[in-house]
Amino acid sequence: MQKIIAINAGSSSLKFKLFEMPEEKVIAKGLFDRIGLDEGKIKIKYNKTKSFEKAEHIENHATAVKKLLDLLLELDIIKEYAEITGVGHRVVAGGEFFKKSVVINTKVMRQINELAEYAPIHNPANLMGIKAFKKILPKAIAVAVFDTSFHQTMPKTNFLFSVPYEWYHNYGVRRYGAHGTSHRYVARVAARMMERPLKELKLITCHLGAGASICAVKNGKSFDTSMGFTPLTGITMGTRSGDTDVAMISFMMQKLKMHSMPEIIYDLNKKSGLLGISGISSDMRDIEEKKATNERAQLAEDIFVKDVVKYIGAYTAEMGGLDGIVFTAGIGENSARVRELVMKRLAYMGITIDQEKNKLRGQAEFVSSLDSKVAVMMIPTDEELMIARDVQTLADKSKEVYSKIHAG
Ligand code: ADP
Repeated sequence: MQKIIAINAGSSSLKFKLFEMPEEKVIAKGLFDRIGLDEGKIKIKYNKTKSFEKAEHIENHATAVKKLLDLLLELDIIKEYAEITGVGHRVVAGGEFFKKSVVINTKVMRQINELAEYAPIHNPANLMGIKAFKKILPKAIAVAVFDTSFHQTMPKTNFLFSVPYEWYHNYGVRRYGAHGTSHRYVARVAARMMERPLKELKLITCHLGAGASICAVKNGKSFDTSMGFTPLTGITMGTRSGDTDVAMISFMMQKLKMHSMPEIIYDLNKKSGLLGISGISSDMRDIEEKKATNERAQLAEDIFVKDVVKYIGAYTAEMGGLDGIVFTAGIGENSARVRELVMKRLAYMGITIDQEKNKLRGQAEFVSSLDSKVAVMMIPTDEELMIARDVQTLADKSKEVYSKIHAG
């Protein structure tokens, strides 16, 4: 039995989930929020029912990690630091360096730092988390799990933009995608539910949260995905525009008298999507509540559903068929209405809904009926579990290598 912790470090937050492996039992999870700001917040849930909350200043990521480990001791969740034998870090941009999860060494840290130009807010924050844990738990295996690496199997036809080839060759401009850990996780669960080998399946996984992306998973590999060079492209999201015509940027900069690109990119990232269309909220719950009386809320829902339907149609055509669709993340897991609206528009594919099962929440379920030509599933995502599993796989591998060297 070993304890593995999955870490998601943001610019001012640090989320964690502590697992007992290989049982995959969650023993604690929590959030350190507002790091570096006036008043920080700490929330920990443990032993299934217990919780701990405190407001206090958290100076930086290193202090957050120290506080976290000390709290785990204080709350009797662990008896000593050394019980944690592995740390898995979510890293946003892995570029073309990282095609799978890796054990973190100095070279890996340098590469994550170099890749900060592709994710200027996230990679440096991820690196802060990595350094802080390395310092306090130097003996634990540290693993980086990249949002982008699952998509590294996409063929050139699907990852290149139709722009001068040198942009890719010289500067790495291409589709990298995101939410890779989530797409990888739910695709595996889907194959298990369908009782078929993942390698034989054509799946479309729809990660519909505040950020949203769709992935064509062909024979177990990412074949195409809706997010691009950055997470701004693809389907309409909570506040991000999704696909647009970039030529409108200079036009709108003139109209809005903006002087710098970051200003308009900010609007496309933070003021667009469901919020931009509806004018009321980026949250699908508010949109669903207000749509009966608010035309623009209805329009936001319609556009969101249309985008999902459009990508499913395109990816089915690209893969030459479809066996299963997965809905996951905040909207995908909780909005029976969005799932129903999408499935109804896919009736032409022979998709039929199981109305009762579509109302259920919390657990993975088929939401299509038995006679549906394509299986449709709701699967709660679990990126942290996927991270912990990767840590364990790499820990087992390095133990194997170690014992081979010492035996030979
Ligand atoms: P992220 O991880 O990208 O921040 P989540 O996957 O947690 O986002 O999804 C958050 C979104 O899920 C919310 O903004 C909201 O739009 C949507 N959501 C959550 N619960 C429901 C619900 N019951 N009905 C509709 N949408 C919901």
